[in-house]
Amino acid sequence: MDFISSNIAELPPSQTLSIADTARQMLDEGKDVCSFGAGEPDMDTPNHIKQAAIKALEAGETKYSPVTGVPALKQAIAEKFIADNNLEYSLDQIVVSCGARQSCFNTLLATCGPGDEVIIPAPYWTSYPEMVRMTGAEPVIVETTQETGWKMTADQFDEAMSPMTKLVILNSPGNPTGAVYTKEELEKIGEVAASEDILILSDEIYEKLIYGEAEHVSIASLSDELKELTITVNGFSKAYSMTGWRLGYLAAAPAIAKAVASIQSHTTSGPTTFAQFGGIAALHGDQQIVSDMRDEFDMRRLYMFNRFQAISNIRVIEPEGAFYFLVNIEPIGIKSMNFAEKLLSRREVAVVPGIAFGADHTIRFSYATSLDIIKNGLDRFEEFCRSH
Ligand code: PLP
Repeated sequence: MDFISSNIAELPPSQTLSIADTARQMLDEGKDVCSFGAGEPDMDTPNHIKQAAIKALEAGETKYSPVTGVPALKQAIAEKFIADNNLEYSLDQIVVSCGARQSCFNTLLATCGPGDEVIIPAPYWTSYPEMVRMTGAEPVIVETTQETGWKMTADQFDEAMSPMTKLVILNSPGNPTGAVYTKEELEKIGEVAASEDILILSDEIYEKLIYGEAEHVSIASLSDELKELTITVNGFSKAYSMTGWRLGYLAAAPAIAKAVASIQSHTTSGPTTFAQFGGIAALHGDQQIVSDMRDEFDMRRLYMFNRFQAISNIRVIEPEGAFYFLVNIEPIGIKSMNFAEKLLSRREVAVVPGIAFGADHTIRFSYATSLDIIKNGLDRFEEFCRSH
């Protein structure tokens, strides 16, 4: 008897999570592993956010939340969109969720199905293609290269389109590449999308982690037409180090927001009520904590960039956002899984193989870990590369 549905039978487990599990197991066994696998900030959630949730619990905020979120949080999110993204949304256009991941999936489920194609630039966040497949739609992968900064050009987007194209996924700043699309690049991509009424899922979860001269631009803010077509996803996980709180949100045209709310009402219902009070405190509180965290990541980023540049048989470009380096290991001539397994077993350094992101010639290093681990891990990584 085959109990698993045909929809799910082919679904591979998240490869980013499986490497992290092995590394954790080795650490538990007392091994001196330097892990670069983390997908979450290594800082704790700021205290005023925790205190707001504790206060909410004590005040009895322990019942079901409205499906689309507590009104005060939705109001704070609407104000954040105006202040940070130049985007005005009414509260019925905002759906608070149990994380950006859920917002992405619900968006896809609400808008895509069998017969539809969804364009995804690679290297991509590992969950996008699987989420698309779970809706019955087909992912169409557009390969990008280091030469274009790991970014899809408007021409590539145009070429990948077919009469079945329903939606394109953009993720800027990007995981795993750290790439940040400029306003001009988004304008060109937006022009192509608008010409065929293609929806845009803009995953902006790393918005606050941006470095150097780069600026975050929400594609929805570029024109009224693009605002209609775009579902903007964001959340609290990365900016406020609240990954375990499971709190995210999206904003979209009213009909899409309504469809997403309907899915949510029949699945998870509203996110955890007292966690949402933490979210309000995060948005209303002092944003200095966000820039302090960003500065810490920036210092690590610059250190790592210098170290990587000194290794002759790998290629890196400077990431402008998020907390990842995507390292091109093509000159070494080993596929990413094999490379990552050897690096872990021989030098006890954990990285994520690029195959998880549709880029088998790469590995991903996260710098959401201490500078001591980074220094030690890069010494070992350098030795490993020199031995090849
Ligand atoms: N989107 C991207 C690109 C991510 O990298 C992640 C987490 O790694 C998420 C969404 C998930 O965010 P959340 O924790 O809010 O569900």
